Formats: sequence, C-alpha cells, structure tokens
Amino acid sequence: MRVLHISDHADPLATPGGEFCGGQNVYVRELARRLGGAGCTVDVVTRWADRGLARREPIAPGARTVRVPAGPVGPLPRERFGEVLDEFCEGVVRLHEEAGGYDVVHSHYWYSAVAALRLADRHPVPLVHTHHSLGAVRRAAIGRDTADEAGEHFAARHRTERRIGLRAAAVVASSTGELTDLQRLLGTPRHALQMVPPGVDTTLLAPRDPALARAELGLPAEAPVVLFVGRLEPRKGWEDLVRAFALVRRALPEAVLVVVGGEAPQRRDGPGPLAALVERYGLAGSVELRGPVPHAATARYYSAADVTAVPSHYEPFGLVAVESMACGTPVVATRVGGLRWSVADPRVGVLVPPRDPAALATALVEVLTSGAAERRQACRERAAGVYGAERWAGDILAVYHRVAAAAGVE
Ligand code: UDP
Repeated sequence: MRVLHISDHADPLATPGGEFCGGQNVYVRELARRLGGAGCTVDVVTRWADRGLARREPIAPGARTVRVPAGPVGPLPRERFGEVLDEFCEGVVRLHEEAGGYDVVHSHYWYSAVAALRLADRHPVPLVHTHHSLGAVRRAAIGRDTADEAGEHFAARHRTERRIGLRAAAVVASSTGELTDLQRLLGTPRHALQMVPPGVDTTLLAPRDPALARAELGLPAEAPVVLFVGRLEPRKGWEDLVRAFALVRRALPEAVLVVVGGEAPQRRDGPGPLAALVERYGLAGSVELRGPVPHAATARYYSAADVTAVPSHYEPFGLVAVESMACGTPVVATRVGGLRWSVADPRVGVLVPPRDPAALATALVEVLTSGAAERRQACRERAAGVYGAERWAGDILAVYHRVAAAAGVE
C-alpha cells in the first residue's frame, strides 16, 4: 500500500523540544517508520524549512520524508503557516501526481487538511485525518489573546476542521474525550470516527537503572527529582511548574527540577524567560535547564526522575505522559485533554486542576513521598498495555485497508 502523510510544519526528522518541534513530529516519524516496517511505502511530505537538509531523506526502510518548498527558508511560527499554505498545497498535489497517486492520504493538523482537501478535489483518493489539536478546544482552554486564536485565523481553522471531518473517510481520535469533542464541536459523523490512541516505542522508551541514569546525567544520587519534558509554550504550564516547585522545595529542600526541551542552557542573548523566572524564585541552584535533547535520549531522563510533571493548560494528547510511564516513572498532570485518560489510573499518577501551582505542588510531594515501586510497575503495565506502538500502527493500518477497500483502491 502506498501512503502519503501530510505533515505541514512538523518534519518527522527534526529534533523535538525546540520552539517549533514536538509531539506531531514524533508521532508522524514513529508511525511512518512502523508502517514502512509493515510493508507499506510511506512518503511524509512537509515544508522544506531548512535548505541544508535534503529534499528527500529516508526515515526507515519503506519510509522517507519529502520536503517541498513553500515560502521563506527558515523556521516559521505555526500560526503563520497560512502565508505559505497555497504554495505548500500545490507542492502536495504535484507530489501526488509525480508519484502516480497514493492509495491513502493521511493528513495531520488543520493546515495539512487544507492540502488534503485540495488534493481530493482534483484526484479521487481516500482521506484519513488526525487533528492533533482542535481550534475550539484550544481556544476554550487558553483564551483568545494569542495570534492564532484571533478572529479570522480561528474561523478558517474551525471551518477546515469541520470540512475534513465531513469529507474524510476516517478521522483518527487519540482519546475518548477527543472523540466526543469531534462529534459535539465539529459534527464529525460517528461512522468516520476511529479511536486509535498513539503508541510509544517501548523498546526505546524503557526503564534504565535509575542510579546509572542519574550518574550519566550528572544528577544527584539521592535527591528527589522532578522532570519536565517539552516545548516552552505558555500553554505547557511551565510557569505554574516553577511556582509549584518553589513550594515543593519547602517540603523537600533537596528536590531538583530538570527541564528538558525549551531554552538551550547557554543562550547568547542572556537568560530566557524560564531561566529568568527560576532566578526570580531563587531556584537557580536546584533547577537544571538541559535544553532540547534528541528523542532517543529522553528515556535516560525519564528513568532518572522520580516523577514527571505535565502541567499543561491544554494538551490534545500528551505523549510525554505516556513516555514517562513507559520508563516506569509516575506522572503528575493537569486534568485536561488526553491526560485525563492516559493518567486516569491513580497508581500511575495524580491529576490536578490546570493553572493551580499549589495543587500541583501537593501532588508532586505526594508522589515523591509514596510507594515508588508499586507505581513504577503500574506505569510500565499501563504503557505497554494501552499505548504500545505495535497495536497503534496495526490499528492505523487496519483503518487504511478499510478506507482503501471502500474506495475500490484495493
Ligand atoms: N521531546 C524530545 N526532546 C526534547 C523535548 C521533547 O524528544 O528535548 C519529545 C517528547 O519526548 C515527546 C514530544 O517531544 O515525544 C512532545 O510531545 P507532546 O505530545 O508531549 O507535546 P507537543 O509537542 O505535541 O505539544
């Protein structure tokens, strides 16, 4: 089966954790790799942002990324992708034609849905879509004050999210909450909806010896360690975490907070906003800013930590929570989006309200001072049982076969 993934801004081979790369990059790369391994021929089309990278680059056997020029060279904030969308869409259509047509097209995020819809207007091809994030839910959670939630942008996004739901042969929801949102907010018909939670690579994201991991990372052997992994977008709640951590230190004065992703530890232009906040709370000696690390290196951090904090205001799925569990490390997360399901079992972690540093601190102290061994076991079981990557890729492939058969492609 020949599959095209459209991943507008998220290059599957980019290093996540910086300003522009995160869960979608990891999701698309992992899925492409596994589908390639299952015998599919997979192309992932994305914007060619860095001309230092090849136009076409292998991801794994059977899977490659294809970069199409669209707009200026260099990174582009996600909310400005609309400026290059037309050129990107034409590049996607051209790719489909040059390739002699794909059997299934799977789009990711709403800009890619625009490209998929344009392609389907010109060529008969079954569409599968994963939203990754929903405009209406995001706006309700974080307000209208950012550029991408403002008037026209939001309206265009919402319209596209509705349209792709009505046009796609299948829409993949990552959690039961998203499934409900898609029906309620976008009117996506029930027959198109497929619940397929993302999986994580449990061979890569597997527990390491915590003492060894700490030694390798230069972290103290005995201190309680809280970990944050992710981009430093405001909606990730990192400000709440710094405030909460100041409270954690009152109960556990030896505690250390390790931040992976976001600001590089040494910036030429002086301390970034996170370092400045850490300084303001007098926490510079107990907070380690490690900057973005390659995905393969995250397992060592999860294994070294006693608890991973996911304090997001909005989190469509939240791969970090599941990755942490896969490494046997419990999670304290906010009760939002996909986290409400992934961290639902009280043995794997604690859910707290968003934007509440005091509640976050209480939960962190609770996990840091209670039954680690039992939690570690439950975390591993939940990750392997519910969020295994084999099951994920198998379920997605079954969706492709179903829509291809219905379209008469196979
Ligand atoms: N990540 C990484 N290196 C970093 C920071 C993050 O590999 O320095 C990865 C992390 O392991 C996860 C992804 O980036 O796979 C973030 O995904 P998540 O769904 O948690 O958040 P999103 O970026 O989609 O908001």
